Amino acid sequence: MVDIFKGSFTQQDPIPEDAIEAAVAVMRHGRLHRYNTAGDEIAETALLEQEFAGSVGAKYCLAVASGGYAMATALRAVGVKAGDKVLSNAFTLAPVPGAIAAVGAQPIFVDVTDGLVIDLEDLKSKLHHAQVLLLSHMRGHICDMDALMEMCAAAGVTVIEDCAHTMGAAWNGVPSGRHGTVGCYSCQTYKHINAGEGGFLVTDDPQIAARAIMLSGSYMLYGKHLAGPPPEAFTDIRYDTPNISGRMDNLRAAILRPQLRNLADQVARWNARYAALEDGLRNTPGLSVIDRAPQESIVGSSIQFLLKGWGARRVQEALSRCLARGVELKWFGAREPVGFTSRYDSWRYAPSAPLPNSDAVLSGLIDMRVPLTFSLDDCRLIARIIREEVGAVYQSAP
Ligand SMILES: *Cc1c(COP(=O)(O)O)cnc(C)c1O
Repeated sequence: MVDIFKGSFTQQDPIPEDAIEAAVAVMRHGRLHRYNTAGDEIAETALLEQEFAGSVGAKYCLAVASGGYAMATALRAVGVKAGDKVLSNAFTLAPVPGAIAAVGAQPIFVDVTDGLVIDLEDLKSKLHHAQVLLLSHMRGHICDMDALMEMCAAAGVTVIEDCAHTMGAAWNGVPSGRHGTVGCYSCQTYKHINAGEGGFLVTDDPQIAARAIMLSGSYMLYGKHLAGPPPEAFTDIRYDTPNISGRMDNLRAAILRPQLRNLADQVARWNARYAALEDGLRNTPGLSVIDRAPQESIVGSSIQFLLKGWGARRVQEALSRCLARGVELKWFGAREPVGFTSRYDSWRYAPSAPLPNSDAVLSGLIDMRVPLTFSLDDCRLIARIIREEVGAVYQSAP
């Protein structure tokens, strides 16, 4: 009898009870807009920003409507204009080139390594083309941030970090999002804290923080921000910065605050599941796990592996055999974009020269979400199923 996995790859944990109570309290008083406060009340959104800034050690934090909005706002706030070029990873998700396109700029894509991080050699050769790098820590893989920051500083390139998959992660003890000038995060359901939609940006630069706050739609109510810069930072920009509304509301902030307090425990649960999967997959013939750098402290909310040089037909066969046993895997090599998964060459609004290593890596790259509703036994079973099915295809005649 073959084992079949019956869990759901899209089912996250429920919202914790204390977060539900906080949400109900906001609904009972009805003041959902972040600037709608009674007397000396401090809005949930302002408190959340203060707590998030504290959790990553940033001076300033702004909560917004989505991770994509955070990135577009960061690009505007550092001065990217229509027609500018912005460097970014070729291996990422559509909201990243989308944020660049939202400000009328054009991505220049940088190749990926077999370790799934930005290729620093390729980056080096392209640094003179742009003043900004939107660096995506795609699927939680963090490159050598010390080397990258040194290279970018020497070239005068501003770094904005996309930390959609690295909230709670770090490089060399520095929280992800705190190497670059701005760090951007997502609170969408599939990320590390869940408000359905939502995002943050953090920075230590008062001018960038002030512009981001104005951009997000603060009207002249920026004084209500606990994690914003002092009023002087707004003096010169308050007449010149357009309002592009994308605020977070108090209902979302209310359900995020208890989740943020609990993030370290959730990270430990994700990493235990990641380790069980990685253990079970390691040394499977034909399959390469992605070794993680010792400087990386990860959040294992998804796992990737490579079927190097397999060819599309065999990859698809392995995936459909896994799916028949309940294991839903995503493939970054498909010609057509499917679900959340797409390739740089399917973003036709952002044409790119071919990137040979990205093409080779993506053609064998398999991805799996790790929801916390999976038990450790579930993870061991999933790894066993992948091992058996990948093994069966690998050993069959080509
Ligand atoms: C989810 C995600 C984002 C942000 O997405 P939103 O849905 O706009 O919050 C950014 N980058 C990556 C790599 C993502 O996966």
